[in-house]
Amino acid sequence: MHSARSHLMRAYSRQPISFVRGSGARLWDEQGVEYLDAIAGVAVTSLGHAHPAITAAIAEQAETLMHTSNVFRIDWQERLGERLCKLCNMERVFFCNSGAEANETAIKLARLHGHRKQIAQPQILVMENAFHGRTLATLAATDSAAGQHGFGPLTPGFVRVAFDDIEAVRHAAQELHGIVAVLIEPVQGEGGIRAASPGYMQALRSLCDQHGWLLMLDEIQAGLGRTGAWFGHQHAGITPDVMTLAKALGNGFPIGACLARGAAADLFSPGQHGSTFGGNPLACRVACAVLDVMERERLPHRAAVLGDRLLAGLQNALHGHPNVRAVRGAGLMAGIELDRNCQELVGRALAEQRLLITVTRERTVRLLPPLVCSESQIDEIVTRVSRLLFREMAGSDVAAHGESLPVEATP
Ligand SMILES: *Cc1c(COP(=O)(O)O)cnc(C)c1O
Repeated sequence: MHSARSHLMRAYSRQPISFVRGSGARLWDEQGVEYLDAIAGVAVTSLGHAHPAITAAIAEQAETLMHTSNVFRIDWQERLGERLCKLCNMERVFFCNSGAEANETAIKLARLHGHRKQIAQPQILVMENAFHGRTLATLAATDSAAGQHGFGPLTPGFVRVAFDDIEAVRHAAQELHGIVAVLIEPVQGEGGIRAASPGYMQALRSLCDQHGWLLMLDEIQAGLGRTGAWFGHQHAGITPDVMTLAKALGNGFPIGACLARGAAADLFSPGQHGSTFGGNPLACRVACAVLDVMERERLPHRAAVLGDRLLAGLQNALHGHPNVRAVRGAGLMAGIELDRNCQELVGRALAEQRLLITVTRERTVRLLPPLVCSESQIDEIVTRVSRLLFREMAGSDVAAHGESLPVEATP
């Protein structure tokens, strides 16, 4: 099995571990060792692994019809579109296969919106610390010098301003010509779990109205219950003009969506955008099954309750830890910011605690547990994270004094 790895492009630095089976928040590796999953495939498997309703939807639809193309009407696509629009007050949706594609769609809408207004060089305001994907346009919208390095020339048409800072947006409005839209994550995920304040989101909404800009929200990570509401922007009581979804929408089956309302919903005319796989019967049926489970089990509410428990547990357990700068959360998105690069914690969490975590922006431990976790699994995540952090930092302090502690392999 290992020789196959040499034929894969080295786009990822991977952990030397391969999972073969999962159930809910639990995973098993090739040796049958059990792990606790506190990242849900990076905010994708919100219903946990191998959810029976999703498995059944995939099996039934695969037996019936998987793909016909967007040359034809697709019943499951229409049903999913209607359900999503009802959930978030939008009017129309375009389906694709990933988050970056959903954002590409939003960017194309923004440019069309500008050209309608005779703006030849439309500009989109994007945020410091933002993440919007890895395609060329979304890479330019993303704030990552490392991610952009080597891929120039970057797609033009993006102007970056400080996050959660309304004065920065007002200033840009005065200084710049041709702004047509604002693209923002209501909670920055890759950026280290930072939520925009409700007051800022409301002020942004009115600035967009005042200037005729589209307010475009990237809810790919924060949407679909993760923050304790169906969508991250609902905490501010606003409605966007354009919103993108992906990640949890298929619980691991690839699907993305770009939703719009008002004038933005009618910008595309036939032939202006498309996707071969986008919105196929299988993907859309799976997403309908995901929404069924989320509605039936009230998972957005559950994420709020479990998120409070996780955040309180982490704050309590890590209180006074000398290297912890901040513990932040929004529903079941939690970030523990340390005072140093802590990327090696991902491997140590696996080896020492049998726990899946991620580290983002080098210094922030990020937790994105499935929304179907039990209370005791949330408590177990807190226990393992705090054991990891106290052991880690104790080890490194000793190392700083010239000794080094051996790393234990098992908890
Ligand atoms: C993951 C993510 C994306 C990119 O989604 P892909 O499916 O990897 O293309 C874009 N925006 C946000 C906020 C994300 O978390």
